[in-house]
Amino acid sequence: MQRQSQWVKAFEEGHAGERELLGGKGANLAEMTRAGLPVPPGFTITTDACRDYYRTDRKLPDGLMEEVFAKLTELESKQGKQFGVAPTPLLVSVRSGSVHSMPGMMDTILNVGLNDRTVEALAELTQNETFAYDCYRRLVQMFGNVVFGIEGMLFERQLHELKRERGVEQDRDVDAAGWKQLLERYSALIRRHARREFPQDVREQLTLAVEAVFRSWDNPRARVYRKVHHIPDSQGTAVNIQSMVFGNRGEDCGTGVVFTRDPSTGEKVLFGEFLTNAQGEDVVAGSRTPRPIAELAAEMPAVHGQLLATAEKLERHYRDMQDIEFTVETGTLYILQTRNGKRSAQASMKIGVDLVAVGVLTPEEAVLRAEPGHLDQLLHPTIASDAELDVLAVGLPASPGAATGQAVFDADTAERLAASGKRVILVRAETTPEDIHGVLAAQGVLTSRGGMTSHAAVVARGMGKPCVCGCEALAIDVEAGTLSVGGQVVREGDFVSIDGATGRVIRGSVQLKAAEMTAELQQLLVWADEFRTMKVMANADNPEDARKAREFGAQGIGLCRTEHMFLSPERLPIVQAMILAESKEGRMEALGQLLPMQRADFDGLFRAMDGLPVAIRLLDPPLHEFLPNMEELRAKWDDLQAAGAIDTAGSPASSELQQLERLMRKVKSLHEVNPMLGQRGCRLGILYPEIYEMQAEAVFLAIRDCMRDGVQVVPEVMIPLVGHVNELSLLRDMVERTAHHVLQEDLHRVAYKVGTMIEVPRAALTAGRIAECADFFSFGTNDLTQMTYGYSRDDAEGKFLSAYVDRELLPANPFQVLDTEGVGQLIELAVERGRRTRPGLKAGVCGEHGGDPQSIAYCHGIGLDYVSCSPFRVPLARIAAAQARLQQSAAPKASTEAAASLQMQAAQ
Ligand code: PEP
Ligand code: MG
Repeated sequence: MQRQSQWVKAFEEGHAGERELLGGKGANLAEMTRAGLPVPPGFTITTDACRDYYRTDRKLPDGLMEEVFAKLTELESKQGKQFGVAPTPLLVSVRSGSVHSMPGMMDTILNVGLNDRTVEALAELTQNETFAYDCYRRLVQMFGNVVFGIEGMLFERQLHELKRERGVEQDRDVDAAGWKQLLERYSALIRRHARREFPQDVREQLTLAVEAVFRSWDNPRARVYRKVHHIPDSQGTAVNIQSMVFGNRGEDCGTGVVFTRDPSTGEKVLFGEFLTNAQGEDVVAGSRTPRPIAELAAEMPAVHGQLLATAEKLERHYRDMQDIEFTVETGTLYILQTRNGKRSAQASMKIGVDLVAVGVLTPEEAVLRAEPGHLDQLLHPTIASDAELDVLAVGLPASPGAATGQAVFDADTAERLAASGKRVILVRAETTPEDIHGVLAAQGVLTSRGGMTSHAAVVARGMGKPCVCGCEALAIDVEAGTLSVGGQVVREGDFVSIDGATGRVIRGSVQLKAAEMTAELQQLLVWADEFRTMKVMANADNPEDARKAREFGAQGIGLCRTEHMFLSPERLPIVQAMILAESKEGRMEALGQLLPMQRADFDGLFRAMDGLPVAIRLLDPPLHEFLPNMEELRAKWDDLQAAGAIDTAGSPASSELQQLERLMRKVKSLHEVNPMLGQRGCRLGILYPEIYEMQAEAVFLAIRDCMRDGVQVVPEVMIPLVGHVNELSLLRDMVERTAHHVLQEDLHRVAYKVGTMIEVPRAALTAGRIAECADFFSFGTNDLTQMTYGYSRDDAEGKFLSAYVDRELLPANPFQVLDTEGVGQLIELAVERGRRTRPGLKAGVCGEHGGDPQSIAYCHGIGLDYVSCSPFRVPLARIAAAQARLQQSAAPKASTEAAASLQMQAAQ
């Protein structure tokens, strides 16, 4: 009897549910084999084997290769060919395949099994010597690069040189003699760099290839990709070994990639590209620009028809849009791979909604599948339609959204400039996986070569970055740092813009406009609203943002930072006069000027949010933030001194100097350093009561005006940075007194609330007491994180936090993703104690975390009533809140099922 394999499974032995073990590609090959699709036979080395490889300090697991060769023997009899033996040699591909798709990040070797003898047999068998030697040189090239780590460029250079010598442009024009000559040069290259020969022993080839694919799991680009996509390093990759089929045997052969729907728009059309007489990675690599799939219908109608039918079958089988790799060998179609296709945000929404319409998905599933990050992308800016554009060229619209920035021509520069706060567009002839950090840092990507499925296009779409690719009109000179087209030259640092929706490449920077919501997104949001229980509010402090937020479905304003209202050029001098006033009278005078302005601000907000709650937070930052910065003042002082102001007392310059010195003294006395835990928030309101009184008065005056006009006002006054109940008690009294004073007999008609931010750990710990004076709690998780961790936010993010995240000391930046373990404890405790004092106390989050999907799920789980985030994140938060609810309701059901099945097992 045959021994059970530990590390290896034939395609027909696996199934789609074994993704963790077989990797996405392996599981799909197994599933397709089961479904009777034309998949070249093969087997998969499991991710267990890869994990074992890393566990044992990079040693192939015991018995692995014995199992591989046993499976290879089975493959030989299935195919009627023999590995490494003439006259019918079996050739295999060795491909990585991780659990989550990581396109192009790891390595692949094709044509393993060719050597000086079998290449002759292949030539004989196919009656095509050129083809056989082309396959062989490809193997040696890939092997040299992947197994021996020799730079791919060195091989490319040799190929280039050969074509030049022979006076041909295309690879396909090289004949057998040419390939033989190239093989000699490749062999010399390998000898020189690897200090050994290319292995003629095909079993050694296979062993080294497997090991190299394992190794490629740990290459730098794969590591970066995993980090960006939150894929654990410990997962490991599977390796698929599959009989080769050849798309490069002649003009009735080819290879291609198709999507079952358009990955940019979601439209239901077969979308993709193919190349005749080409092999493997030619389409994805972007070295030859492929032809649209529609042209296959004319060229190979039967194959095209079969491809359409297979695409439909695969989409229904996997219940999602598929990205399919196929090869045609002498007129026969083979499917090499299928996976859920990467898609743009817009396409993702449309596909979800369309699949519901045809009964493939339920609305719940469509909402669960929506990627919150995609929504972020959907609401990315586009180019304003009336903007004057200097269009340089038009390429392929590979990933929607518009971007504007300085042109850079390599990934390292892109990363460096972006880190210094610049917006850049990465311009390359084509991108390779090595450029991933540049793509990540750039606003968008522009390439002159490659199709819609090229590396640049796939990666940019996945990251939600705008991308224009295959713009062949552009001549890109990386060394010189220039892009030229039609006599115009764009140099490194010049501004360019791209429109990923139309493919336009534009000179200069352009004005971007916020995106509109599509009908599909609206539909998903309507479903999401049906499913979610947590409310979504917006952080907004002007009527325009409030209207935008409302348009995006915000159910109120959860945080209006009133300090933003003080920063406009016409108000700042009044605010400064208020701060610099030496007496209460002086301060009152400035505040008197601010009152009507604040009143108008609140009036605008209440009207925009008619019928919905508006939480107005009284002034929070330390006063020095409104004053000029000390360095500027010092420079001015130096200038005045140099102008002789000191020697000429009584001169205008001298009185200016005196004023300046007074200002400098004040700035110095008010100056606070990070983490800004001094005189701010309610502390300010207590020491300078007239500031908060003015704000409260403006709030109630605006309420009175709005009510008179029939506007339904639901006001909430929010006190920041409370740490002790006495602070809140004092300020609550002030707010109530002001309400009484302004509203008089109308008071009973206004159901206003007074609540507090919970931002100080002490406030969370004493929430039971604080709730005595608070109608609601709004967790200011920015400050709460800062104070719980003892991290000064501004200093931490710029200095050590990214290193902490890189070194996995922290799972994520706690200012982006809520630290549920620490800060979360304080929130849960505060909610519990607060609600014990005041049952049903309304509680929500208004820090940055209110717009982060993972944090939103947590907020839902602990029973918060709402999250509040910036207007553009509101749709995302609505979806995330619905997903949290759906996942929560799925979880108990699953465990009930599990319990029921356990009970059944016990009963048997
Ligand atoms: C917070 O601290 O979370 C908050 C919302 O307030 P701010 O960011 O204005 O300090
Ligand atoms: Mg705060």
